Amino acid sequence: MTHRTLDPGRRAVLGALAAAGALGALPAFAAIQPPRFRADPFVLGVASGSPAPEGFVLWTRLVDSGIDPALGVAVRWEVFEDGSPRTIVASGETEAVAALGHAVHVEVAGLKPDRWYGYRFMAGSAVSPVGRTRTLPAPDAVVNRLRFAYACCQKWESGYYAAYRHMAAEQLDLVLFLGDYIYEGASRGGVRPHALPTAQTLQDYRARYALHRSDPDLQRMHAACPWLVTWDDHEVENNYADLRSSIGTRNFGARRAAGYQAFYEHMPLRAATMVAGLQGLGAGRELRIYGQLNFGKLARINVLDDRQYRDTPLCREKQDGPFAQLCSQAPGDGRSLLGVAQEKWLAQSMGEAARQRIGWNFIAQQTVFTPRNYDQGPGRRFSQDSWDGYPTARERLLADLAAQKPANPILLGGDIHQNWVANVHARPYDVRSPIVASEFCGTSITSPSGVAPERAAALAKRTPHCLLSNVQDRGYGVIEVQPGQATVNLRVVDDVTNRDSKAATLATFVVENGRPQIQRA
Ligand code: FE
Ligand code: CA
Repeated sequence: MTHRTLDPGRRAVLGALAAAGALGALPAFAAIQPPRFRADPFVLGVASGSPAPEGFVLWTRLVDSGIDPALGVAVRWEVFEDGSPRTIVASGETEAVAALGHAVHVEVAGLKPDRWYGYRFMAGSAVSPVGRTRTLPAPDAVVNRLRFAYACCQKWESGYYAAYRHMAAEQLDLVLFLGDYIYEGASRGGVRPHALPTAQTLQDYRARYALHRSDPDLQRMHAACPWLVTWDDHEVENNYADLRSSIGTRNFGARRAAGYQAFYEHMPLRAATMVAGLQGLGAGRELRIYGQLNFGKLARINVLDDRQYRDTPLCREKQDGPFAQLCSQAPGDGRSLLGVAQEKWLAQSMGEAARQRIGWNFIAQQTVFTPRNYDQGPGRRFSQDSWDGYPTARERLLADLAAQKPANPILLGGDIHQNWVANVHARPYDVRSPIVASEFCGTSITSPSGVAPERAAALAKRTPHCLLSNVQDRGYGVIEVQPGQATVNLRVVDDVTNRDSKAATLATFVVENGRPQIQRA
């Protein structure tokens, strides 16, 4: 039997897996099979993420018709000096775990802070593509620059991932992915229809992720730098809230568990993410993906999960029917979008950042924060899937911002497949109240907005705190953070139906240190 070593976090997960049998009936420490592949087992590429000052997570997943689905595969990994594959600084052997779809997550530690590294995997005589990743600066380091992209919503059939080819040339330290990595539905036409059924089971969700990871431009971006990831609704089901289906799916807990496990299997997440989930995702146990990181003293990025813990939306299409898209009911209640524990955690994180004098504070989450009123008259009609559906939760977040005083708060969001750039006011419906934060939402990598430009323009007119709204373009944002200012470039592709599409800058905005009011550059 092949000798193998496991890092402690992964050992804990596999041990708990074996004890709990939580991820299916397969034993976690099954015998390792000799690697006999019929083709390249690394066709899904490589990825890295969850960076820390001393290391990161390396990811791959083996796929090959020659692999026995019941047995693990021994995988070797190497980390080497950037651009110098012969200078190996860390290496080891781990297991592509059968119960996790032969996914590999390696938590590398003991590296130098603020450094770029190369990495690759080997199984038998197969060698993976080389990826590039980096460690974070030391927590007390004075850093002059952080450059990252934020992106979301990459419906496969709606277009090609030309956006990622352009993103890969942006020389980024990080990618922040804000949800809708996959869409659960069967494809109805589109630029590149696929034949997969609507995802319900773990096998279905795995196949959906494998489809996405087969895309060369997406693979290239994963191999280019570390990613920080959160999810939105379509990693499981449209508009779900916690353990409640928005469309009355029976046995929704099982569907959510399948979606959550497949997400874990395909993302460069730490084993600790999965610890609570090991006691039973199907019974509603948490997959704890929210968290924060510091880029030295320059910036803190809080990554939120506004899907897993949210209270039920107010409006349904009919009694006990599907959740409604728009809602007019006055939501004067205490419902939470983040859940009590995460709200408390975020407040603490913001207070800690203030005490540590972190220069910039990003709140990266799934959806649009700023209020938008769809009512043409004096009333209020709002999209209840976003913060507009949880106005008291939004007020609590604003109260926490005011109390904890993190420097230069900037909200990032996705979900609506549109660009919205907005000043965030202390009282959300009162544009004469002080501006306390800045917001940059969207757009999508490929997913269409489904909103006519005229309707969006009318909505924007009723939303005076917004500097820009754009429903027509697909793309991503790039943020360059310096001590004195943050510059935001909204990048858009010319033609999402063209794999070779060019890209352009739609608009550039600047937020100056100490002044949350957004300025056009
Ligand atoms: Fe989306
Ligand atoms: Ca969404």
